[in-house]
Amino acid sequence: MSVVTRIAPSPTGYMHIGTARTALFNWLYARARGGKFLLRIEDTDRARSTPEATDAILRGMEWLGFDYDDEAVSQFERAGRHAEVAHALLDGGHAYKCFSTQEEIEAYREAAKAEGRSTLFRSPWRDADPSTHPDAPFVVRLRMPQDGETIIEDEVQGSVTFPNSNLDDMILLRSDGTPVYMLAVVVDDHDMGVTHVIRGDDHLNNAARQSHIYHAMGWPLPVYAHIPLIHGPDGKKLSKRHGALGVKEYRDMGYPAAAMRNYLARLGWSHGDDEFFSDAQALSWFDLPGIGKSPARFDFKKLENLSGQHIAAAEDAALLQELGAFLATSGREALTDAQQSLMAKGMGSLKERAKTFPELLDKAHYITVSRPITPDDKAAKSLDYVSRRILSELTPQLQTGSWTRESLEALMAGFAEAQGIKFGKLAAPLRAALAGRSVTPSVYDMMLVLGRDESIARIADAAH
Ligand code: GLU
Repeated sequence: MSVVTRIAPSPTGYMHIGTARTALFNWLYARARGGKFLLRIEDTDRARSTPEATDAILRGMEWLGFDYDDEAVSQFERAGRHAEVAHALLDGGHAYKCFSTQEEIEAYREAAKAEGRSTLFRSPWRDADPSTHPDAPFVVRLRMPQDGETIIEDEVQGSVTFPNSNLDDMILLRSDGTPVYMLAVVVDDHDMGVTHVIRGDDHLNNAARQSHIYHAMGWPLPVYAHIPLIHGPDGKKLSKRHGALGVKEYRDMGYPAAAMRNYLARLGWSHGDDEFFSDAQALSWFDLPGIGKSPARFDFKKLENLSGQHIAAAEDAALLQELGAFLATSGREALTDAQQSLMAKGMGSLKERAKTFPELLDKAHYITVSRPITPDDKAAKSLDYVSRRILSELTPQLQTGSWTRESLEALMAGFAEAQGIKFGKLAAPLRAALAGRSVTPSVYDMMLVLGRDESIARIADAAH
């Protein structure tokens, strides 16, 4: 059997980080097995669904590299098919028309409460003779079993039992003939050939009810894997108060997509003690038994740490390209061609110890700044009279000799010694001259990337 998984987000608001994690699990599962990974936009709730939210989902998927097969499916557009299935269930006797009004249902519940009975609505129309049906609006309800148990075999939760006495005859079609969400999910999953439903465990109860639609239609159940939701660092359900919830926020904070995938994989899934891994490793390792039963805690420190490792491990050219995309999507100024080539030259040292793209850019300040450089306050302090004199004596010496790390190191050491100063004394004004800052990459790294002419020009500027 070939695997078909899907992500079925509701386009209301932003793309939630939990949705991204669910998408990742489904994507990994399908891709590693040569299966299909599908996208369905669950836009049945017309009041809350917006095109902007759909767009946010599509862009989030694209950023994270979750390529999906076939066209994205709109659930709303399939309403006719959902209704068709409801009618088939009606014709087969698995569903019935219920004419109870809202007021009658309310009255039923009130009475049940007063008598201390279950307030679960039991429709009087379940077994009514069709000849007694009035000419009035009706909903279509599924005839659910009332005794016994419904058992969901779940790859994460194990065998989960639901007493059928807790299941009401759920509505399939509203009185205006529109299908409900619970029906739509099942029909769509069946029609899309979904073999594995991997989703948040807030849908576990739904699975119990949805399974009866499958049974009634004679359709095979998918394999279920309900994954625990993501919690904040305090162990409480992830909410705005914990910080960023939307995928876009992480993109805008400048985490590389590979780091995000790595971190999301670790939210609720593990492979031994492995924390830092590549997509290829995740693809070969990911499986449902590795998903834990307890909620994962979101940990920014861990994400940052992984992000730094991914930046350091990335190929320079790929990193530069992703940095360009980051600048564009976060509305920052693009790099000029000249800056790009300096960046490519300096990437080896820049990418060490940068945890995000903004940190990388901050380290690359010496590349993006242009002459004349105005030093910041702290850097300006190291450009006092004595230091400026030292710099002006250094410039002519930089004109000759080869422009390599070894010869620059030798030259600086000799120069410092002749001046009777420690190299540290020389480094601070050089940082100020080359970058206008007191904290920068190494002086040699900057000089090698900037080249002889630009370095000398900057030092001469500062020496004046
Ligand atoms: N649309 C549902 C959600 O966003 C997912 C339904 C499902 O995966 O079955 O939570």
